[in-house]
Amino acid sequence: MNIKQNLINIKSTLPVSITLVAVSKTKTLREIMEAYNAGQRVFGENKIQEMTDKYEQLPKDIQWHMIGHVQRNKVKYMAHFVNLIHGVDSFKLLSEINKQAQKHNRIINCLLQIKIASEDSKFGMTGNEASSILHSEEFSELKHIKVIGLMGMATFTNNQNQVKKEFLLLKNTFEELKQLKTAPDNYRDYQLHTISMGMSDDYLLAIDCGSTMIRVGSSIFGARNYS
Ligand SMILES: *Cc1c(COP(=O)(O)O)cnc(C)c1O
Repeated sequence: MNIKQNLINIKSTLPVSITLVAVSKTKTLREIMEAYNAGQRVFGENKIQEMTDKYEQLPKDIQWHMIGHVQRNKVKYMAHFVNLIHGVDSFKLLSEINKQAQKHNRIINCLLQIKIASEDSKFGMTGNEASSILHSEEFSELKHIKVIGLMGMATFTNNQNQVKKEFLLLKNTFEELKQLKTAPDNYRDYQLHTISMGMSDDYLLAIDCGSTMIRVGSSIFGARNYS
């Protein structure tokens, strides 16, 4: 597995405006450094403990993204360094992120996770739930978080039509929320510009459907033994 070559190949297919998150969960420091030495600076992990261990041991100009499901009681372990939290699925979690960010005098970027898959196992909120959070007064009081967009995970299936439908649902939800932003009664100026969708098997489709940020693991680092 030539990590550097994989990165070069993937990047050559991407429009420059797309952010590539290299998903390094289960991968070693050495493998991550191989990607780092090829110029990659944005890495994604799905476990807070693992991400924190890697943060401590690796160069400090890496941007760490938490892409997994976040337990509220663990936010404190990453609040001093995390760059973007993709999977925010409740107001309670936003509020905890805000609280922990404040302790470090930081503003933490967040994406709201929208449930687009048909599988019950996937997390996320509806577009309406996201909208009511963004337009609530409680939200306007959270000064240490910034919601910069949405994240979604498609159903695990080979059916490309279904995956496409789900990606387009996320894109439409994003456009609707952006519209609402200009409503006269909005409490706060939030800037939605990021749609995190697409993984190794479907990132080109995701980009066609409007993704601005893709999360790619196995196509860069090779298959994982466990996840
Ligand atoms: C593991 C993971 C990915 C990357 O998956 P690959 O198929 O290896 O590219 C993307 N997003 C999330 C949320 C993940 O947990």
